[in-house]
Amino acid sequence: MTTTQQLYQLYLQHPVISTDTRNIGAGSLFFALRGDKFDANTFAQKAIEAGAAYAVIDNPEYQLGNKYLLVDDVLTALQDLARYHRGQLQIPVIGLTGTNGKTTTKELINAVLSQHFKTQATQGNLNNHIGVPLTILTIGAAHEIAVIEMGANHQKEIELLCSIAQPSQGLITNVGKAHLEGFGGVEGVKKGKGELYDFLSGAGSGVRGAGVTFINSDDATLLDMAAARKLHDVVYYGTNTIDDLISGELLENSPLLTLEWTNNKTGDSHKVKTQLTGAYNLHNILAAIAIGTYFNLTAAEINAGIEGYQPKNNRSQIVKTATNTLICDYYNANPSSMFVAIENIGKLNAARKVLILGDMFEMGPEAATEHAAVIQKALDTAVDERIFIGKDFLSQNSKFKTQKEAATFYATAEEAIAGLKANPIANSTILIKGSRGMALERLVELF
Ligand code: ATP
Ligand code: MG
Repeated sequence: MTTTQQLYQLYLQHPVISTDTRNIGAGSLFFALRGDKFDANTFAQKAIEAGAAYAVIDNPEYQLGNKYLLVDDVLTALQDLARYHRGQLQIPVIGLTGTNGKTTTKELINAVLSQHFKTQATQGNLNNHIGVPLTILTIGAAHEIAVIEMGANHQKEIELLCSIAQPSQGLITNVGKAHLEGFGGVEGVKKGKGELYDFLSGAGSGVRGAGVTFINSDDATLLDMAAARKLHDVVYYGTNTIDDLISGELLENSPLLTLEWTNNKTGDSHKVKTQLTGAYNLHNILAAIAIGTYFNLTAAEINAGIEGYQPKNNRSQIVKTATNTLICDYYNANPSSMFVAIENIGKLNAARKVLILGDMFEMGPEAATEHAAVIQKALDTAVDERIFIGKDFLSQNSKFKTQKEAATFYATAEEAIAGLKANPIANSTILIKGSRGMALERLVELF
């Protein structure tokens, strides 16, 4: 069996990892991961033929020579290698998790820190038990700091990811209603995300000494979670000018955000114009400012990072078409992010507003209640048109009989497309949001 130590020595000579034979880097280490429908052991030979230096496998039947490294379990070997590599790195690693806003906050932190440091950050949304180790293994000798997004949909996942990434600084963006099925309700989400605080407080496994926790001081749930633990070193950010290192407020949301932030230690204030929409992004931005300040960046560097960040990922992204302004937020959805997105468009100063909302997935037994609550929220919000798409929303339609004229329901995106072609929308600001599986980007060309 090949040990972690032996793999690490090979990794130092071959620091590129590949897991997909369709794009094998020459001289890379191929890890033959098993999926639900495939066993990459069967591709090991192909990987070597395509130029991989070594293939890490866990089925001896596929060991065809000394380029094939046998381990007990390929996934565990990948995670152990990443954990070992992190253990050798002497740089700060910022770990973040939370229900909503992880990727946006990660991008903002990276945009700020990269004004001053050579950074490495999670690419896209590679935030799970495979993505985190792969990201850690892209950190090279030249990197000075790393930002790692950690996602979870069940207990103990963040604990595992922390044991690999060993964050020296970290934050939970918020705790809300998502993946309720896997976590077992909101209390379960709190416990699962709290594993990051456990790690930072020094209670986690494989600790390198307790770390620094950045906390949104406007979030009562996070404050509760922090109070329940002995956190080592805490930095607050929010709208509270007394306790926060960094406090800030929105000056404009039209639909791009302008805010003013203050460093309460020095007293200096700055105005920044962002390329993000959505009032809920205030705290994502303040988190990035607090981290930049903690790492001694100048205000000019911090502001350049924030102002330069342009979302291109269908999260809080504004797209102007010939006749409409689209708020493209169809990357994902859950009850918490639906509520804040609806509230946001409700407050916008726009001539005509439209909601186009698609089903929220992974709600388990809460699906009916949560879809009904979003419909109610939409009805209570001052907009001109409300369109719901998907069977979960449709199943709640009958509960809203008296207000039926205020909303249109479609069972599928295909039906919605046909309906919208017949009744086109113009001169409007349109929020488009639904779970990834609803693929609401299909609607965009209609506007
Ligand atoms: P995922 O779990 O898919 O990785 P994520 O946590 O990385 O999601 P983002 O991709 O940054 O989150 O944002 C997804 C959506 O969540 C945004 O488009 C927005 O609607 C909402 N959102 C972002 N920040 C917040 C926040 N601070 N509070 C509530 N909702 C937010
Ligand atoms: Mg994400």
